[in-house]
Amino acid sequence: MSDPAAPAPGGLWRLWGMTAAEARAWAASIGLPAFRGEQILQGLHRPGVATAADIKGLGPELAARLGALGPVLPGTEVTRQESRDGTVKSLLRLHDGRQVECVSIPTAVRHTICVSSQVGCAVGCTFCASGLNGVERDLDAAEIVYQIAWHHQRRPVTNIVFMGSGEPLFNYDQVLRAIRALGDEHGLGLGRRRITVSTSGVPKRIRQLADDEPQVTLAFSIHAADNETRSRIVPLNRRWPLDEVLEAMADYSTKVGRRMTLEYVLLAEANMTPGHAERLAAVARRFGAHINLIPYNPVMETPHQRPTTAQVKAFAERVEALGGHLTVRGQRGADIDAACGQLKRRAETPAGEGGGGKGDIPVDIGTPAG
Ligand code: SF4
Repeated sequence: MSDPAAPAPGGLWRLWGMTAAEARAWAASIGLPAFRGEQILQGLHRPGVATAADIKGLGPELAARLGALGPVLPGTEVTRQESRDGTVKSLLRLHDGRQVECVSIPTAVRHTICVSSQVGCAVGCTFCASGLNGVERDLDAAEIVYQIAWHHQRRPVTNIVFMGSGEPLFNYDQVLRAIRALGDEHGLGLGRRRITVSTSGVPKRIRQLADDEPQVTLAFSIHAADNETRSRIVPLNRRWPLDEVLEAMADYSTKVGRRMTLEYVLLAEANMTPGHAERLAAVARRFGAHINLIPYNPVMETPHQRPTTAQVKAFAERVEALGGHLTVRGQRGADIDAACGQLKRRAETPAGEGGGGKGDIPVDIGTPAG
């Protein structure tokens, strides 16, 4: 883990990823009274702050000194798409020019943010635009927190899902720092139980998360319950096959005392035969897991197709009849590039070469799995 007390190279923007204690240590490390760190952290979270001079209570001299360090915000919004259903997808440009997506999903009772943990992704799921060009870099904790803060300033956030671009457990330290900064009372004060981390399966880190942050909900993106199909859809399965990941997930569930959650993107021609349903139900029964079925949102550059409503219904009924407990996630943001990686890809590719996405944004994810 990077040293949280190190001065913020390139500006105050890194403070977004700090707890109050880390911000105090940072202030002391650059020769300021420790309370200034906390004051700056609190000041950054006020709506409309864009420069050091906007931070309340600093005085012109200190504001000028801090402003000279570099940018105050981890990113700026360059594009946004708003769906008729209220879903808002923002593309943020980071300090080094790279771009990252975050999605706001409001309902009557919740405001969930789907957040990215890396620029691009190394996992390379065949249905996802984020993995098409591999991973560009890890996000800093500040860049993760800011995706949420950006939307929070418009409407208070209630839930967070790490289901944007990147494999969160490949950027474990920064994701952990972000979770801790998000929970800090001087930041957004968002408790761990409101956070869901979605992984494609990294056994060692799954077990580590149970020790480090047992209140966070971890969901396993299984997408197929046999190694042959899963290795085709999620190449990472060749490195850590199903049994290895499921055993780690079972250890996690036992340790945290909550039921396992399985995410399953429904790909019409790839993982929806009766055999796939039977194998999924068997895994769910064996581990007492809850399944979230997510109908795929088809886009260019991936070989997959969206299933029909009748296909989704038939698959869900078969799994349920075999004893699998499940929820079919509703579709959000269908009229915008809301699926993971689409907006970034569209913004970065010539007109007419729009990207692909991991599926419809699931609604209501973020409730701790019971
Ligand atoms: S679905 Fe998730 S893990 Fe798979 S390539 Fe996309 S971002 Fe990576």
